[in-house]
Amino acid sequence: MAYTSDIRNHFPIFRHHPDLTYLDSAATTLKPETVIDAEREYLERYSTNVGRGLYPLAEKATDTFEMTRQKTAAFIGARNEKEVIFTDGATASLNLAARLLESLVTPKDNILATVLEHHSNFLPWKELATRTGAEFRVAPIDTDECVDRDALVDMTDEHTKIVAFSAVSNVIGGINPVSEIVKRIKEKNPHAVVVVDAAQAIGHQPIDVSLWNADFVAFSAHKAFGPTGVGVLFGKEALLETLPPVSFGGGMVLESCAETPKYREIPFRFEAGTPNIGGVIAWGAAIDFMKNIGVENIRAHEETLTKYALEKLSGAFGKTIRLIGPKDAKKRSGIIAFAIHGMHPHDIAHLLGESNICVRAGEHCAAPLHRALNLDATTRLSFSVYNSKEDIDRLIKRLKEIRKIL
Ligand code: PLP
Repeated sequence: MAYTSDIRNHFPIFRHHPDLTYLDSAATTLKPETVIDAEREYLERYSTNVGRGLYPLAEKATDTFEMTRQKTAAFIGARNEKEVIFTDGATASLNLAARLLESLVTPKDNILATVLEHHSNFLPWKELATRTGAEFRVAPIDTDECVDRDALVDMTDEHTKIVAFSAVSNVIGGINPVSEIVKRIKEKNPHAVVVVDAAQAIGHQPIDVSLWNADFVAFSAHKAFGPTGVGVLFGKEALLETLPPVSFGGGMVLESCAETPKYREIPFRFEAGTPNIGGVIAWGAAIDFMKNIGVENIRAHEETLTKYALEKLSGAFGKTIRLIGPKDAKKRSGIIAFAIHGMHPHDIAHLLGESNICVRAGEHCAAPLHRALNLDATTRLSFSVYNSKEDIDRLIKRLKEIRKIL
């Protein structure tokens, strides 16, 4: 499937809501037909458990599930499928990473995050620091309102155990040069474990975790055309091999009756219990969907829309609008947060919603960042493949009408 403007036809939701202008893909993307079909097919035709049954239907479920693990590894540039742990979502992945690393952290250590993190990549580290007595350090933003890379590196020292930052902020939209940041952190402290939150990068830009050289990378399937309830925690094989499991139950143990239970190999020892099988299989269809379009084509399309929207918003609202983040669309993903003088974000989102234009308003689970920006709330637009310049024109037209009402 080449990238074309009729990509919208792949998303059944538009048949139910033909006038829908969906500008909230950073919250979750819409789902293509093939993803819905894959989950339905599993549920209808072979909804058996994985990793246990010896009959053909269970073998089909296991094979399809494990093939999706391989597909995921190839899609993100992991060295092999052992580096892919399936979870419930990015939040679950980041919490799992924090629990896996807990035994390595001592009160002499520090843990570093940045002020622009989503709560899901902030609170697990803050809580881990509290539990272990380690110091929690928070790197600031720079003049572009992106993470201050120099400060992040400066704050890394010989006692830094973990550095967590996002590839793309869910508010700023700025694309962080992950490889460069990881390289500089590792030069400063080769033992620091680097965790990258890729929740807003997956599906919007090509990802190569080997090139990034981060130790852990987390994301959710639902932000990249997949279903909710599925996430991935990539971990470097050599590191995962050293870590004990933190969640216990079926599927992760070889011999449980022994005094010292024998746990399975990676990644299975980190996946206790029955996983979201249909969801993972549908995530495989989402990967196929993205590969067929070409993630670089998705990126190019979103960049065009971002540039267009930034120009249109400044053109329409001039000095009364504060556009957060870098002015250059090349430096940012398809996310634009803004504040317009005299118009509260919640009123904007509510009134746009009445016209079936979906945007997000509030702090976007990034309260520390909003404090740093000195704003209570922002309105956020976020784009994906099914958006067009017409969506942005419709938004601007309605925003101008709303300004007259408010
Ligand atoms: N990290 C970032 C940057 C996000 O934008 C989000 C969700 O918006 C998350 C983490 C958490 O994702 P989930 O709610 O799917 O676990």
